[in-house]
Amino acid sequence: MSNQEKVHAEVRELLPAYVARDLGRVRRSLVAVHLRRCGPCQAEFSRQRSVSEGLASLAAPVEGPPDGLLERLLEQSGSPKLHGPLRGAVSGARPAYSAALLLAGAVTAAGAGYASWASAKHLRRRLKR
Ligand SMILES: [Zn+2]
Repeated sequence: MSNQEKVHAEVRELLPAYVARDLGRVRRSLVAVHLRRCGPCQAEFSRQRSVSEGLASLAAPVEGPPDGLLERLLEQSGSPKLHGPLRGAVSGARPAYSAALLLAGAVTAAGAGYASWASAKHLRRRLKR
């Protein structure tokens, strides 16, 4: 195993701790330097970071959204009105890419709906006091 490969394997092991900002200064800079010149590790880092951010935002609220909210939002994001501009934007793109974009759109719409629901609920609770 070459030295570069050894660093590569080590970085892969350290990535979860790096994402969680749970590394010492020396190891953190080792990972940072490697990420800058290694595409695959950079991609893996972005993936782990977005998963960890997603989990953090899910963990924040204590109670869940009302029944059916998510389904309703996903239904809305599947309506022709919302799909129109999106479909135009992805025409010509590869099918897998289009599907990913549509999924991202649905998740974003659901996330925005959930956020407004959560803040409205928070506001109501404050007004009651
Ligand atoms: Zn690497």
